[in-house]
Amino acid sequence: MDKIIVAIDGPSGTGKSTSARILADKLNYLYIDSGAMYRAITFELQKRNLKSNDLKSIIDVTKSANMKFDGEEFFLNGKNVTKEIRSLEVTNNVSKVSAVKEIRKILVDKQREFAKENNVVMDGRDIGTVVFPDAKFKFYLVCDLKVRAARRRQDFMDHGFKFPIEKIMAELKKRDKIDSTRKESPLRKAKDAIEVDTTNMIIEEQVNYLFRIVSGLDL
Ligand code: C5P
Repeated sequence: MDKIIVAIDGPSGTGKSTSARILADKLNYLYIDSGAMYRAITFELQKRNLKSNDLKSIIDVTKSANMKFDGEEFFLNGKNVTKEIRSLEVTNNVSKVSAVKEIRKILVDKQREFAKENNVVMDGRDIGTVVFPDAKFKFYLVCDLKVRAARRRQDFMDHGFKFPIEKIMAELKKRDKIDSTRKESPLRKAKDAIEVDTTNMIIEEQVNYLFRIVSGLDL
């Protein structure tokens, strides 16, 4: 039987990852944070000091990357890199890396692989448009920039980093611009996605809203 896919897309800081994780838990589906995969490649390329024109090595690193999700932890080639992939250095460079066509193709294949064996909730930028255009459920989360920055700041603090809100707002704006104007799989709302404005919602409300629709309670 075909597996059920719940695709959650939207700009950075709209609460996608947090609500997707809790939703997956409630549904007993696998949660895949596709952003973590792009972050992991960014981290690995930085670690190896690979130049952006060394496409062959970049492809090798991406293809051979072994990625595992285990609850809230993320493992790259057997190493727990949950914290490292959230650093500002990775965050500032991930949009450039994720705009590379060759990297996207390899990671999209890996994302589809995860959904072969499992019902999944997957969040990202192109899940409903490119990775799973036939997903049974598609959501597109939006949220006011200031609220997004405040949430992101808290997220950073939870991971042990502290930054001024203005810096985070600038970073979010820049990343959204690159993500939505890139040639390859730009951030877009799928035609058949349900748009959810999370500006005035706490996480519990977001999750309940999504859960009611996916579980058929909202008919
Ligand atoms: O969701 P998160 O903020 O961790 O994503 C980090 C970056 O990874 C995004 O800004 C975007 O550049 C990239 N990304 C992407 N496609 C996805 C998920 C993330 O291009 N499906």
